[in-house]
Amino acid sequence: MTAKVIDGKAFAAEVRAQVARHVTRLKQENGLTPGLAVVLVGEDPASEVYVRNKGKQTVECGMTSFEHKLEADTSEGDLLDLIARLNADSAVHGILVQLPLPGHLNSDLVINSIDPAKDVDGFHISNVGLLGTGQKSMVPCTPLGCLMMLRDHHGSLSGLNAVVVGRSNIVGKPMAQLLLGDSCTVTIAHSRTKDLAEVCRRADILVAAVGRAEMIPGDWVKPGATVIDVGINRVERDGKTRLLGDVAYDGAAAVAGAITPVPGGVGPMTIACLLANTLTACCRANGLPEPEGLTA
Ligand code: NDP
Repeated sequence: MTAKVIDGKAFAAEVRAQVARHVTRLKQENGLTPGLAVVLVGEDPASEVYVRNKGKQTVECGMTSFEHKLEADTSEGDLLDLIARLNADSAVHGILVQLPLPGHLNSDLVINSIDPAKDVDGFHISNVGLLGTGQKSMVPCTPLGCLMMLRDHHGSLSGLNAVVVGRSNIVGKPMAQLLLGDSCTVTIAHSRTKDLAEVCRRADILVAAVGRAEMIPGDWVKPGATVIDVGINRVERDGKTRLLGDVAYDGAAAVAGAITPVPGGVGPMTIACLLANTLTACCRANGLPEPEGLTA
């Protein structure tokens, strides 16, 4: 069997086009322009690239991008003041604080100071609680993107065995909650899981979010399973830097029913879902119906 390749790049382009169509309608019919504020503290090169891409794609979708670049030694008080101003600004519907923050800043405190209705990353403790109790929330972008691709491929996920490898707050745990919400039977595996190979082989849906290049070989994949590879690992090979997933792609693609490649799978969906969340936040803030198919 050769797996169907789930093209995250094409899927993300379609999500962005959908967002752009909704934004055009919001402007024409309601005089509203969704706005996303991105806050970057310090000069981490990778974060700067992410922030630039987010700003560019926000504008391309017709939304307003507000970029706030702060010095690495910005005090917690100054950062909290900025967030308070963004919370109060009616032109700002989404606020994202780029992580990781410099060590002297308390990330939990900062994230929890964002208005939960504007928390487009879905990391605020209120949104975590709402998701965990099956209520309407802002959903973290990477797992939301994975869910969209899974729904598109399977239609209903009800009753499927899902295994999520990784239990981080930003990927593994919310992914598991979303799969549970779609009535999968969910197992969360992690570094202490016994006989991980056997656990993975039971999965109709296998989500890898570990951060270890190619740690899941093809013979851990159930024939016909859907494999979602969240991992992004930079590896030096033959004098070149390569991006590899957490799944050994060739071996897994030979047995899986469908698989996301790295790059070009989950990665592009993350920013697309950030834009979708900003649109959703704008609709909710103005009492308008939410865009269909762009939320959990
Ligand atoms: P974390 O480091 O926060 O979490 C990794 C998880 O993997 C932990 O729960 C850890 O278990 C588990 N783990 C580590 N080693 C093993 C092992 N040998 N066997 C089983 N489980 C193991 O990572 P993130 O969740 O933040 O990210 C995971 C990957 O996804 C990374 O490659 C990251 O770059 C990528 N990523 C991609 C995004 C995208 O847009 N495509 C967005 C976010 C992340 P334990 O808890 O026991 O330590």
